[in-house]
Amino acid sequence: MKNIFDYTVDELTELYISEFNQKKYRAVQTFKWLYQENEYDFFKMSDLPLNMREELSKSFNVFTMKEEKVNLSNDGTTKFLFRSDDGTAVETVLMKYNFGNSVCVSTQVGCRMKCDFCASSKLSFERNLTPGEIIQQILLVSKHIGEKISNIVFMGIGEPFDNYDNVMKAIRILNEPHGLGIGARHITVSTSGLVPQILKFADEGIQANLSISLHATTNELRDKLMPVNKAYNIKLLLEACKKYIEKTNRRITFEYIVIYGVNDTIRDACRLADLVGGMLCHINLIPLNPIEGGSYSRPSQNIMMSFRDALNNRGITATIRRELGSDVNAACGQLRRQYFE
Ligand code: SAH
Repeated sequence: MKNIFDYTVDELTELYISEFNQKKYRAVQTFKWLYQENEYDFFKMSDLPLNMREELSKSFNVFTMKEEKVNLSNDGTTKFLFRSDDGTAVETVLMKYNFGNSVCVSTQVGCRMKCDFCASSKLSFERNLTPGEIIQQILLVSKHIGEKISNIVFMGIGEPFDNYDNVMKAIRILNEPHGLGIGARHITVSTSGLVPQILKFADEGIQANLSISLHATTNELRDKLMPVNKAYNIKLLLEACKKYIEKTNRRITFEYIVIYGVNDTIRDACRLADLVGGMLCHINLIPLNPIEGGSYSRPSQNIMMSFRDALNNRGITATIRRELGSDVNAACGQLRRQYFE
């Protein structure tokens, strides 16, 4: 069986023509039912021919994931655990802001990046999520709260650029004006720094935001924190970022986790300013969220502010990210399908 949520409108159009002998506008009709009317029963898609509805219901399944646990934090952040029909589970987080509902999606079951500070690195890698599974996380959250989702961040479990094609497809599905119509500017993809994919992404013609997890200013430290640095060091990474900015004219966000006693000095801030100086970028400072059994600890608010000020004083725009959901292990880097270990 094919999963209907795996398809972009263009792919579905092609499939309808080639395999179902149907007119091309039927794909747009199907998208409207699924993503705008929340109608998942093909038989009820009343403007499709009856024989087509029957054919579709024989060829496609709809939800292959279901909500298994929901955990509401004191600050209104909600963590969901979704189970796929093959038994694998992923976590998804909903953050309610005054500008709308933002969903943080997972892209893989487990992660291959093995960042030293991240809970997801403690999971073994199982598999990539399909585009449909990425889309279902958003639909299921929206269904649970009975509200629309306005922003998507690809910052849950997994490395989005290690599942590049499926993530690109998911973005195109989210973008579709006849579907959810979530504008690319409301979508953010975060990567640990896979250089070939950053360069490829620059050529996609997708206006989504790009975040780079930098976290260190020397290769010595970044090698230790993020093994991906051994393949693509800071110089290669920043060169790729510059090319991306040149091609897209879009601002990059650098994520920098401030880790107490590790990368939190004014000297680190100065090195960071030197590295990104002159680039069209913004720096997001995140206080480390300590993970269970981890060896790193959270810096004080004072350290965070001095670090930010040191960057600002050097002409670099930097803000401290507000922490949400830490009481339900829904904060950055804490997702790890904890119920199942
Ligand atoms: N693999 C992608 C996206 C997932 S992680 C990436 O690396 O960007 C999303 C963000 O959370 C990344 O910036 C990541 O470095 C950060 N993060 C991971 N563990 C964290 C922790 N313990 N505390 C704070 N941020 C963390």
